Amino acid sequence: MPAAFCIFCDIVQGKAPASFVYADDRVAAFMDIQPVNAGHLLVVPRAHASHLADLDPHTGGHMFRVGRELAGALGASGVRCEGVNLFLADGEAAGQEVAHVHLHVIPRFRGDGFGFRFGPDYGFVPKRDNLDQTAAAIRKALEN
Ligand SMILES: [Zn+2]
Repeated sequence: MPAAFCIFCDIVQGKAPASFVYADDRVAAFMDIQPVNAGHLLVVPRAHASHLADLDPHTGGHMFRVGRELAGALGASGVRCEGVNLFLADGEAAGQEVAHVHLHVIPRFRGDGFGFRFGPDYGFVPKRDNLDQTAAAIRKALEN
């Protein structure tokens, strides 16, 4: 349980208002109150998990399945939706603003003005040796 106030815990427990589109025993999905575009949804686990590392992996898989279903529903709902982004920010440096894991399901359309802003080194193409070294470091971390 979180030690501090958590708005997403309050929402899934019915203590704070939200406009729900889906709920089951593990996750709930509702409208983002500050949408990138109309129809922007959040999928959250019912059990508090601040970050991905705290999230039960089966619940994480279920969040993705529900996000996939919602992406299909958006396209059939009449919401302007020519494409969908699934986006999860893990950690403040990645843009996470609420410390309760949440998967964004964002309807997109051409010219909506939303997008990633790349850093100054984005155009740099690393050499294969560099990619291989980084891959080896990540493989090693997976073994631990
Ligand atoms: Zn929470």
